[in-house]
Amino acid sequence: MSSQLIRAFFLALLSVIVALPVGWFVAYWAGWTIVCIGLGLQLIFHFRNFARLDRWSHKPVVDASLEGEGAWDGLFGRLYRHEKDLRAQIARRDDELAMLIAAGQALTDGVVLLDQLGQIIYCNTTAETQLDLVMATDRGQPVVNLVRQPEFIGYLEAGDYSRPLTMRSDRRSDRVLSIHVVPYADNRRLMQIKDVTQTDRLDRMRRDFVANVSHELRTPLTVLAGFLETLQEFDVAPDERKRYLDMMAAQSKRMQSIVQDLLTLSSIESAPPPENEVVDMASLIDKLHRDADALSAGRHNIVVETAGQCDLRGSEPELVSAFGNLVANAVRYTPAGGTIRIAWKSGLEGGEFLVQDTGIGIDAKHLPRLTERFYRVDRGRSRDAGGTGLGLAIVKHSLNRHQAQLDIKSTPGVGSSFAARFPANRLVGL
Ligand code: ADP
Repeated sequence: MSSQLIRAFFLALLSVIVALPVGWFVAYWAGWTIVCIGLGLQLIFHFRNFARLDRWSHKPVVDASLEGEGAWDGLFGRLYRHEKDLRAQIARRDDELAMLIAAGQALTDGVVLLDQLGQIIYCNTTAETQLDLVMATDRGQPVVNLVRQPEFIGYLEAGDYSRPLTMRSDRRSDRVLSIHVVPYADNRRLMQIKDVTQTDRLDRMRRDFVANVSHELRTPLTVLAGFLETLQEFDVAPDERKRYLDMMAAQSKRMQSIVQDLLTLSSIESAPPPENEVVDMASLIDKLHRDADALSAGRHNIVVETAGQCDLRGSEPELVSAFGNLVANAVRYTPAGGTIRIAWKSGLEGGEFLVQDTGIGIDAKHLPRLTERFYRVDRGRSRDAGGTGLGLAIVKHSLNRHQAQLDIKSTPGVGSSFAARFPANRLVGL
């Protein structure tokens, strides 16, 4: 029994003990009056404290102002401490929950939690962007009502989550998402969403590249194998034999060029940042001029111009390869009698290496794809000109590694200009 009850019992007993002799010796009614007064005083005492407790319990913030009388004071103290502990516990849980939510928001992967019915319990901001969800309004909605792609609905409903689902984002079709569902606690599901656009693009590029290389090498190999078979099986006249051998030599030279360009590309891609050696531009331009003359064999008018005295800081082999490809293209794609201008200009605004020709030109629709590997405007013409389709890819990579931009301008039938622009901090002798 609590002390409060024992106390109340003793007070009631006390008023009875006092009332009994009074009722017996004085008057019956006087005894009853004493009992009633005793019990009434107790009632008033308890009612006052109860009223205090009632008022206190209505306050939104429980404070330490609750003071009672007698045993009520101890009770109020205990109540206040319980309330305080509970509030501290709730505040701690709130903090922990806020930290968990903040951690969820900080994830670079999207996270969506679904209940047993597939309704959204939570999603972080990354998932909001990826799946076009709004947590504030979409909470409690079935996710399949909001992400309507059939492959997503099929994947979620099939229930086989051993492999992630890869799909294009509904909102931005250039984004590719990988969705992995992990069941947890009583058929709830956690969806982890990764943006795999980059990996998907690299995968596709790798597949395309392998297919392109195989295709490029297959043609000369087929020709070679065909001629070899003919020479082995038939008695071929000497002049015909020589013609076959010349064609075989041309095809193997073509394969050599492809392999050589592939090796150059891969060495540029995997090499560490280019050396910062000083490349003497005067002698480099001179060498390019001689190479152009040799390749043109007098069919073109080749002009060289320089303005400014600066040299370039970078990797000489890479720059020779990049500039050499631009010059070789100008010669190959300019009909006899045309003019080719090779220019180097340097100053405070940076350096510009320019190759301009009056050749066949390129239609504007091809310009954005020109630096892709194996991309050609006219496959037959490129092959006849001894091209591999890798020249401009090499140029782009080498220039990127020197923080330079390639600017291509061209008009079909009029000519093209390829400008490589270097930042001023790559110049030596400013
Ligand atoms: P290729 O070995 O075929 O020349 P490139 O990567 O060097 O490959 O060039 C890609 C394509 O760009 C070429 O096939 C050609 O169609 C076009 N091209 C490059 N340079 C010129 C130019 N100076 N004039 C016209 N077309 C050009």
